Amino acid sequence: MSDLKDPFLSIVIPVYNEEESLPPLHSEITEAMVEISAKRYEIILVDDGSRDDSHKVCCRLYDEDPSHVRVIRLRRNFGQTAAMAAGFDAARGDIIIPMDADLQNDPRDIGILVDKIRQGFDVVSGWRADRKDKFLTRRVPSILANAAISGITGVNLHDYGCTLKAYRREIMEHMHLYGEMHRFLPALARWAGAHVTELKVNHRPRKFGTSKYGLGRTVRVILDLITVKFLLSYSTKPMQVFGKLGIASFAVGFASGALSIGLKLFANRDVTDNPWMLVSIFFMLGGLQLICMGLLGEINVRTYYESQNKTIYTVRDTRQQDPDC
Ligand code: UDP
Ligand code: MG
Repeated sequence: MSDLKDPFLSIVIPVYNEEESLPPLHSEITEAMVEISAKRYEIILVDDGSRDDSHKVCCRLYDEDPSHVRVIRLRRNFGQTAAMAAGFDAARGDIIIPMDADLQNDPRDIGILVDKIRQGFDVVSGWRADRKDKFLTRRVPSILANAAISGITGVNLHDYGCTLKAYRREIMEHMHLYGEMHRFLPALARWAGAHVTELKVNHRPRKFGTSKYGLGRTVRVILDLITVKFLLSYSTKPMQVFGKLGIASFAVGFASGALSIGLKLFANRDVTDNPWMLVSIFFMLGGLQLICMGLLGEINVRTYYESQNKTIYTVRDTRQQDPDC
């Protein structure tokens, strides 16, 4: 584990049409860094295919402060998760801190997040306790989504959607982001054995530009939640989930088949008189298919892990003697 006495901070900022917010954001971050006397830091601005002058502004900030600002420009608009992934891949710091470009997150909170990481946590998640967004279209879906994510992943956080978080570098090295999954990082990190906590952070109303999201995001988050649940529970043992369902289905099919034959033998009721034979065929075939899916899943798991030399576990640290001493 790296020594975090004087950590190198990587602040990762996804930028999509935020030209007015960028200059004040840069000065606020610079002030916040002076306040916590952090000299080693980088601000990675990931321009996610902006259509306004955001890229020009990013380049200007780079020219003004080249020792701290880095600019990555994506070829088109790939979405916030992809932009953040690009920033994480490029980050060189010991602690990685994503935040929004729209000034809704407060750079002065970076100090308290970093302190928590130095206390030994691997992930510190921001909690916008007093969120400044529209109530019906943003906060209500967010409350429901957070409850669902906490319930399903078993990691209880109040606010998954807050971009402002802090990650110890080692944790991020195992993470791969897809879809809208940046919000599930704390859950994925906990699954990889990380110590996760949350901290109340400041939240401010949007001053410039408009939000890029509406109600439609809820559906995408729910679909990703199903994927994450599956990955968390069964990605290394798909046969356990498909196999169990398959056996249950097969058992139902077998019972109704037996009932249908029993009725014919002992009550002289033709199999065409009742639905049990059809039910039996349906469930038996369904069960067989589920078991086959489980087997295919097992082959996929092996290909996934072995082709990339991945392990199904993560090691925090080891203590052992050199065999030659
Ligand atoms: N963003 C991005 N690509 C997108 C949409 C958004 O990089 O396709 C960035 C955006 O510039 C901002 C952050 O993601 O820095 C969060 O977006 P927004 O403020 O619109 O979300 P909200 O705060 O309303 O949830
Ligand atoms: Mg915002």
